[in-house]
Formats: sequence, C-alpha cells, structure tokens
Amino acid sequence: MNANVSKIKQAGLKVTPQRLAIYDYLVNTDCHPSADTIYKNLEETTPGMSLATVYKTLEAFKKNNLVIELNAGDGFARYDAITENHSHIVCTNCGRVYDLFLPETMNIREQISNLTNFKLNDERLIFYGVCPSCQADEE
Ligand code: ZN
Ligand code: MN
Repeated sequence: MNANVSKIKQAGLKVTPQRLAIYDYLVNTDCHPSADTIYKNLEETTPGMSLATVYKTLEAFKKNNLVIELNAGDGFARYDAITENHSHIVCTNCGRVYDLFLPETMNIREQISNLTNFKLNDERLIFYGVCPSCQADEE
C-alpha cells in the first residue's frame, strides 16, 4: 500500500482521493503552503476538489496530527507535513518559509526552562531575515 494512504488510515481517517492529493502535495513540498495555494495547485488535477474541501481536510489532518499549522506572520495559516518538532526561518524579502532543524546541543528548552522555571513541552521558533538567494539578487 502507498505510504501516504497508510499514514492517513493510521491517523484514523477515511482515505478519499481529495485527502490523498492534499497529503501527497504537502509531503512533497517544503514551501509551507496556505490552503489557497494548495487549492490552486490541485483544483485542476483532482476531481471534486473545492476550497471548502481543502479547509475541511486540513482541519481533520491537524486534529489527527498529520500536519501542523504554522503562522509566519504574513496573515494566513500555512501547513506542514513535517510534524516532528522543528523551527522555521522566514525570508522577509521573498516570503519563503524554510525548515530549520536546530541542533539538540543548543538546549534551548533547557535554557528557557532554567530562566523561567516553566516545565516546557513545546515551542514555536520563527526567525526572520533575508535568504541567501535574495542576498545574491541585491548584489
Ligand atoms: Zn528570499
Ligand atoms: Mn516546517
């Protein structure tokens, strides 16, 4: 069986062609697309795809931990099929959102925990700057 079909089933959801198309799309992109972007990329190739279907599917995926929702500060929710804890870095010039896997050795959670006496279990770190490709364009 297709790996993405299994993952949707394991999450306890019924597999529909629309759900599979959305999950396939998210697994194969690293651009952290919005619901709108997902819809625009799939409407022609996936019969029965509507913007409402995209929203409903993303809600169901989110609830069942198949995707995470991410707000990069640009006014809309973005979606990510990488559900393991990771951070993001946003280019304020081109708007691209990149994955950022911080090395364990940075112990950010431990340091913040020591500073605040919180018992931490999650974090959402987003860094902002100008990406290498935009820096090259400026020169
Ligand atoms: Zn850029
Ligand atoms: Mn990500």
